[in-house]
Amino acid sequence: MKINYSLKIGWLYPQLMSTYGDKGNVMVLQKRCEWRGIKVEILPIDQSTSDKELQSIDLLFGGGAQDREQEIVMENLRSKKKIIQDLIEEDVPALFVCGAPQLMGKYYETAEGRRIEGLGIFDMHTKHPGPKDDRLIGNLVAQGYSSSEEQGDESRSSRLRSNNIIVGFENHGGRTFLGKNAKAFAKVLKGFGNNGIDLTEGVIYKNAIGCYLHGPLLPKNPIIADYLIQKALEVKYKKKIHLATLDDSLEEKAKSAIAQRLGIRV
Ligand code: GLN
Repeated sequence: MKINYSLKIGWLYPQLMSTYGDKGNVMVLQKRCEWRGIKVEILPIDQSTSDKELQSIDLLFGGGAQDREQEIVMENLRSKKKIIQDLIEEDVPALFVCGAPQLMGKYYETAEGRRIEGLGIFDMHTKHPGPKDDRLIGNLVAQGYSSSEEQGDESRSSRLRSNNIIVGFENHGGRTFLGKNAKAFAKVLKGFGNNGIDLTEGVIYKNAIGCYLHGPLLPKNPIIADYLIQKALEVKYKKKIHLATLDDSLEEKAKSAIAQRLGIRV
């Protein structure tokens, strides 16, 4: 029996958290579903979104934002904490970029030293060293952990961990430090990553990915887009899903052009 697959993608506060072009990630997820005949609904999530609507999403995305917008978002986001925590615990996949994962950690301390308490989904915290300190800006090339290095975390899709090279662009003041229960999403090959010190980039917990990779991330890293789509379908339809292969030659060419410009062979 042919199933007409569909997905509802929740997009956190698009009016406030789209400063760095991360809207492109939502467009990629939508197109890579539609190219495969999967119907997609995009649900902008903000103060007008009901609990019932939020609970109905199959995939969650949050983009980057400046400190002030992050503070405004958190005034409403904290009321959605339990539902978002439950979604992540139920293996609903999520991609949070830069300002968004900072709010999903324990706290984010802004450039002015104000602490924004986070949702505590990721065991991590972020501190901005202050307006006088340099922002971490530039091309970022990272590598997914190979299975031997991923500390036995079988929850991560093998497709992601196959030493996958990931490229993007970072622009953040906050420095993120992972707690003992957090696993880095990738390791920095070129650029700063979480804090410019420990060579970690991002965080992964169950099917939720946090990272500093703008660009936007997904057009040049289709393997991550497909990971999110595959996991969303598997959780929703409660069965193993094999996505139809798409021609990613252009995407891979774009990725290797950036990586090679930074001296990394893909
Ligand atoms: N305002 C946060 C910081 O400066 C996040 C920036 C972003 O989303 N690119 O770290």
